[in-house]
Amino acid sequence: VQAAFRSDLAPLLELVGTGKESLSFMKKRIRHLAQQWLRAARRLEQKLKGRQGDQKHILIHIGFLTEESGDVFSPRVLKGGPLGEMVQWADILAALFLLGHSLKVTVSLKELQSNLGVPPGRGNCPLTNPLPFDLIYTDYHGLQQMKQHMGLSFKKYRCRVRVIDTFGTEPAYNHEEYATLRGFRTNWGYWNLHPSQFMTMFPHTPDNSFMGFVSEELNQTERQRIKSNKVSSMAVVYGKEASIWKLQGKEKFLSILNKYMEIHGTVYYETQRPPEVPAFVKNHGLLPQHEFQQLLRKAKLFIGFGFPYEGPAPLEAIANGCVFLQARFNPPHSSLNHEFFRGKPTSREVSSQHPYAEDFIGKPHVWTVDYNNSEEFEAAIKTILRTQVDPYLPYEYTCEGMLERIHAYIQHQDFCTMPSPPPPAKAQSPAMQSPPSPLALSPNATHLVWSPSARRDPRAWPPADSLQVWLSEGQHACTETCRRRGLVCEPTFFRFLNKKEVFLQLSITCDSTEYEMNHLYPAVAENVHECYLQKEPLLFSCAGHNTKYRRLCPCRDYREGQVALCRDCL
Ligand code: UDP
Repeated sequence: VQAAFRSDLAPLLELVGTGKESLSFMKKRIRHLAQQWLRAARRLEQKLKGRQGDQKHILIHIGFLTEESGDVFSPRVLKGGPLGEMVQWADILAALFLLGHSLKVTVSLKELQSNLGVPPGRGNCPLTNPLPFDLIYTDYHGLQQMKQHMGLSFKKYRCRVRVIDTFGTEPAYNHEEYATLRGFRTNWGYWNLHPSQFMTMFPHTPDNSFMGFVSEELNQTERQRIKSNKVSSMAVVYGKEASIWKLQGKEKFLSILNKYMEIHGTVYYETQRPPEVPAFVKNHGLLPQHEFQQLLRKAKLFIGFGFPYEGPAPLEAIANGCVFLQARFNPPHSSLNHEFFRGKPTSREVSSQHPYAEDFIGKPHVWTVDYNNSEEFEAAIKTILRTQVDPYLPYEYTCEGMLERIHAYIQHQDFCTMPSPPPPAKAQSPAMQSPPSPLALSPNATHLVWSPSARRDPRAWPPADSLQVWLSEGQHACTETCRRRGLVCEPTFFRFLNKKEVFLQLSITCDSTEYEMNHLYPAVAENVHECYLQKEPLLFSCAGHNTKYRRLCPCRDYREGQVALCRDCL
């Protein structure tokens, strides 16, 4: 059956259960954004010209909302607890539904079991019938529950799973044996999934798929109205919980800010003003989402104190015409030095409260400054007050952008029929399995491009001719190496360059070449002329660097405002 775009979101609201504050929040959001979603679906439908692809049967199991995993979030929805995950799940539901797929939504273990076909009363044994879903979207909690209740069927079907994973999971933490051996300790890793099965909130590392969420979009009239209604002296502080006001040294920068602007907050409180929030701050209390947006439409500045990390609110603020001012982290925060990231399966270095805003948006919308430097901070405020900015929303965070991306993933990502390893031949490693692909050296000889005469698999996605191979500097990961060339690292291309000839083509001298398990390989230790190839395809990783090695990096182009997709990827 062909998937047909839907033109009404009401039936989706029926599919989402009741009885939890979190579900009400999600439904309210879907309802509020419905017109915007429907317009976007119509636009994508026209763009695809009937190439919608097959309708999939999809199970959406939101693990963190199940009682069995504690459901700590639902009771805090109205009390300033985190909402980012619910924003994202609401948007995933809307997108999958509009794309015309057949959905089941579960938020309890019992519903999960009955939908999977786990025989009642029997735990942990294989399913008696074939799994009735082509795809399962869940989170780490749900993954754990499925593993516990599907017995051996879990292994068989895990290639159909997509894990919504806010901060991302790097390959080195995902590979159980390697992570254990090399001390990549985490509370969440070790699942041996294909790294692209993890789907993140922001495009953190291209090793994972970027799922994202959406923000409210404005038409021309609204943009004009917002611009003329801006109160240029109004600042809103990012954060719903009083604890963010405990930040060390905040008195200094708050008093500077207060010289120039009226400071507003949306901090949750029960009966009294939270003692952490200074008296000169106008606190509105936690607002319903659409009222929060209204506040942002008036404000000139949205200011972050360093927490929460990487949430949706700064994008909403920028989309509503605010400037986002945030603290630079020096040294960057990561799982090695910060409690919040400890145990998370990533070594990513977070250089500010919102690196996406810093790197993908930047000035004039985003200012990332050292809050300990009063002069820098004050100068930023003064410049911001003098600057006019337009509302701005990157295409990938519009409804159309999200629909387009999810559509591409559903039609092209297949982790169940991966190229199987070749029969064990002595000199050949499993990772060598790949079509013949002469990589032509580009004229200036610094990198390789796909040769036009090379045979290419027409079904391969992304198409291989967008590949460029660059050699990293020792201090750079492939993410950074590609980024510096205006490209993005594409992990599915590692298999094309994991070959001895590629070193040769790049004029790299290899006195020896070994296949080993290492998430930095393929790479060369230049000073000793040792070359290394990757033995374990699951460890191909855009993330990771070590001064000892220069890495071979597979880069590709991307669409303006849609980093997940290459130019010919739709
Ligand atoms: N939000 C809200 N009321 C408020 C402040 C924020 O509903 O008073 C919403 C906001 O629109 C955003 C969501 O909370 O979509 C999550 O925002 P945040 O960036 O704070 O991320 P979190 O830490 O909650 O995951």
